Amino acid sequence: MGDMLFINVAKYYERIEATTGRLEMIDYLKKLFLETPPDILDKVVYLTLGSIAPAYEGVELGVGEKLLLRALSMATGISQDKLEARYPELGDIGKLAEWAVENKVAQSFFTEDLTVNRVFDTLRKVAEITGERAQDAKIRLLAGLFSDAKPLEARYIARIVTERLRLGVRDMTILDALAEAFLKGRAFRDKLERKYNIFPDIGRIAKIVAERGFEGLEEIKLTLGIPVRPMLAQRLRSAQEIMDKIGPRVFAEFKYDGERMQIHVWKDGRVQIFSRRLENITDPYPDVREFVSRAVEGHEVVLDSETVAVNPDTGEILPFQELMHRRRKYGVEEAMRAYPTVTYVFDVLYLDGRELLDEPLEERRDILLKLLKENEKARIVQYEVIDNDVEELERFFEHAVEMGTEGLVVKDPKSQYQAGTRGWSWIKLKRSYISKMVEPVDLVVVGAFWGKGKRAGTYGALLMAAYSPEEDAFKTVCKMGSGFTDEELAELPKLLEPYKIEHKHPSVVSNLEADVWFVPQKVAQVLGDEITLSPTHTCGWGKVKRDAGLAIRFPRFMGWRDDKGPQDATTEEEIIQMYKMQLTTVTEEEEQKSSISEKDEE
Ligand code: AMP
Repeated sequence: MGDMLFINVAKYYERIEATTGRLEMIDYLKKLFLETPPDILDKVVYLTLGSIAPAYEGVELGVGEKLLLRALSMATGISQDKLEARYPELGDIGKLAEWAVENKVAQSFFTEDLTVNRVFDTLRKVAEITGERAQDAKIRLLAGLFSDAKPLEARYIARIVTERLRLGVRDMTILDALAEAFLKGRAFRDKLERKYNIFPDIGRIAKIVAERGFEGLEEIKLTLGIPVRPMLAQRLRSAQEIMDKIGPRVFAEFKYDGERMQIHVWKDGRVQIFSRRLENITDPYPDVREFVSRAVEGHEVVLDSETVAVNPDTGEILPFQELMHRRRKYGVEEAMRAYPTVTYVFDVLYLDGRELLDEPLEERRDILLKLLKENEKARIVQYEVIDNDVEELERFFEHAVEMGTEGLVVKDPKSQYQAGTRGWSWIKLKRSYISKMVEPVDLVVVGAFWGKGKRAGTYGALLMAAYSPEEDAFKTVCKMGSGFTDEELAELPKLLEPYKIEHKHPSVVSNLEADVWFVPQKVAQVLGDEITLSPTHTCGWGKVKRDAGLAIRFPRFMGWRDDKGPQDATTEEEIIQMYKMQLTTVTEEEEQKSSISEKDEE
């Protein structure tokens, strides 16, 4: 294996750190890459990005300042107190390490120059050691490096291990430099980027093109275990604009508000899940692993999907925040039970040795429909093929919102999967106006649905209505299944028993068929997130929009209002007013938020 002195690399870092010009930076990188033996170029590239592995492997060096100071102290003979005292003045861990090595009091009788392999392999060990005495072992390894390091080398090693290298070099900069160094410049830069989008291991790409140039580049393929950079969606404001852009024939798909998951499944059932940022998020989602691999049993596939949290009783899709409970490190099992999920698969990128990225979406969809055997937690995205019918697209959009989604992603059926690109083949149509509910409302219980699973034997959700004094009618506005304590839940059937009747009460207006009906009497205080248009609920029917009513999204039980009779409940008119008056434009805010996160990605 080739090797090179680490001081040569450190000197380039020093120059890169000092430049302000991007072209100059690329030029230094190019020279550094050409000086590096090809077979260790991957290591140099990872180090230059301040890490020791491709981002998606999630290898964390995890060396805190305290630990680093101990290692420095051991290597240099300067006391930790002294180092700590000096730190604020220098203000940077790299500068501190440099100073410590320059002023070391410990004599080393035998030193050996640092090489790239030694630095890299030692850092890898530091990251991998676990167990009881891990701390001490890490300190010894790092102290070993610092005793042999020149001051400049110490500067960069200290920054890398604390994950603060920050040379301002990004993957895109590396691609530019690689094209310059090994692929005759700009001409092949696009091709290189396309390969990077389906194989974002920048270190391995570097090594491949350094060793085998164009030929190597050609051979880079979508590979199980290496995440493809996800395709992203553009945004337009109306169904009409979208039709004009990619119509007349479109795929309109529900836009679920959950977590993007790219799911790699091996023939033997092994699964790896990657987030939109390509982090490996397999561990917190054992249920997704199990249900998705079952749905595609016996195949080798890469799926693109969105996973949402659902209310176990109502099946209702819950807001994104609920799903984030699943990301915690401990108590995966409990979290899995408390926050069950459903995965909606909307694309297939690879199947049994065949890369599908360049196939048109409609072809990929056919393959997906044939491949995936749906089960309760692994489903195919809800979608409609709409042909030149803007009204139908609008209607489907409203249906999507009522079902607890953010709206639609409308796709061009002829489009290829453009990895890593925010192109116009996918366009999102989101709710642009939201009436935020700040105050709770008082609603009447008019029906109930039996619970499942944990809630078997009691009600899973209550059907809640607002009152219309003009018509003396109770009109439904939501199904409420959240916010109850376990005791409150258990008590529900008994508590509501006195009001139970055989059929829907004549003053109740409902499109839904409840399992149990009640005389409208019992009033509850309810807080929701927002009021949306609804094709199902009857409150405000036809008064805001033809053929639509209003619904409260994500309603939560706040307590009984036994001081109130059913006529004292919030009225239909009040709900309509809340919907109309509290309209706030969130479009701009959202727009800003999404442009910030796009920047983060780059
Ligand atoms: P945004 O984050 O607002 O740019 O919207 C794009 C995101 O919507 C994707 O990254 C997915 O996580 C999510 N999404 C939900 N449903 C779909 C779908 N049917 N097709 C594509 N993306 C979807």
